[in-house]
Amino acid sequence: MSEHEDPFNNALTQLASIADILQVDPEYYEMLKSPIREITVSLPLKLSNGTALTFTGYRVQHNNARGPYKGGIRFHPKVSLSEVKALSMWMTWKSALIDIPFGGAKGGVSVDPRKLTLDDLERLTRKYVDALEQEIGPEVDIPAPDLNTNAQTMAWIMNEYSRLKGHNVPSVVTGKPIELGGSEGRSAATGRGVAICAREAVQTFLKKEMKDVTFAVQGFGNVGSNTVKTLMEMGAKIVAISDVAGGARAKSPSGHFEHSYDSLLQESTKAGSIAKISEIEEISNHELLETETDVLIPAALENQITEVNASKIKAKLIVEAANGPTTPMADKILGRMNVNIVPDILANAGGVLVSYFEWVQNLNRDHWAEDMVNERLELKMKKAFYDVLSYSQKENVELRRAALVLSVSRVVSAMKLSGWH
Ligand code: NAD
Repeated sequence: MSEHEDPFNNALTQLASIADILQVDPEYYEMLKSPIREITVSLPLKLSNGTALTFTGYRVQHNNARGPYKGGIRFHPKVSLSEVKALSMWMTWKSALIDIPFGGAKGGVSVDPRKLTLDDLERLTRKYVDALEQEIGPEVDIPAPDLNTNAQTMAWIMNEYSRLKGHNVPSVVTGKPIELGGSEGRSAATGRGVAICAREAVQTFLKKEMKDVTFAVQGFGNVGSNTVKTLMEMGAKIVAISDVAGGARAKSPSGHFEHSYDSLLQESTKAGSIAKISEIEEISNHELLETETDVLIPAALENQITEVNASKIKAKLIVEAANGPTTPMADKILGRMNVNIVPDILANAGGVLVSYFEWVQNLNRDHWAEDMVNERLELKMKKAFYDVLSYSQKENVELRRAALVLSVSRVVSAMKLSGWH
């Protein structure tokens, strides 16, 4: 198996090197290596066309030393236990890095949601909640959206859980529609946080202003589209964007998209893909990653930048909006090429941060204004960015290592103080 086929191995390789730097006691290292709980459930479902299928669902709870487990749920045909385990570990580090009182978890169902009707998808989501009712809860484990799940999915989860408990429990899940207790600013939060990190990294490493910098973004879903939107608001130039069906490189004389964000969204929704909009050159996802740009933002899936394509990347800065888009071998190659990488656990932490704000609002029966959410998001993202940057400069290590050292040390400290031995 090549390195990028097993995400959990990648997560363990990272942990091993950080445990070594921090001289983590072997007993704590052993505890961190294995998630506390790995749950696999069978989800039999009779589809509306009469076909009976059994789907496999997962929830992995990695660590709760700092607070309840927290992490998204993805619906994707390639969801595997290894992937969910890796993502749950990264959630532990992410919550600790952005400094909120949550641990790490992740969930998923191995399904291609595009092949199900909305009604089938709703019933599958409810079955997943029925199977995990005992394992999730506002003080235990709080799911959220991820790949191919959204506010509607979270509404079904909240409703099914509330039905099972016999009363309304909005705080069991975050990323809900505003009408059901969702937070203002949550759906845009991950992309907004990515753009904030990108802006700070551009100033730090490229010594440029956003208006003079070009960006290529892989993925135009929740995270990719909101990243593009915020980057455009900051005055940045977008030269290429892609989605699962392919990529679009701007064909205007200026070399960057002259569409407004709203027209990008409308045209791509109407055409079914960003690769089919007007005034573009159609490119593949591979070409997007290797395109001429100052900054590259992978915002789709893991393992997109590997030992095969790393040396062909032209960007001088990568901001990881997706989880695990760069394999460890690609990381080494890019390091030798002096490409700075803002790691996933820092760059995309805005999502879990505003999820935390949502949870706090739900527990307090409160509702914050969007400005207040965005102000707090900006403050926390900048604080985490500069904490990581200053550690990396002080110790002369890359940002990923600095971010992991800070977060793993916070988790180990919580485990020690709580007497986990
Ligand atoms: P999404 O389903 O809304 O969008 C995913 C996008 O990636 C779509 O545009 C899709 O067409 C594209 N895509 C899928 N397969 C692709 C491929 N093979 N090549 C190129 N593009 C492809 O998902 P999302 O919520 O935007 O999540 C994207 C990434 O961000 C994931 O890695 C996820 O774990 C991570 N993330 C999401 C959040 C969140 O709040 N949603 C938070 C933190 C991290």
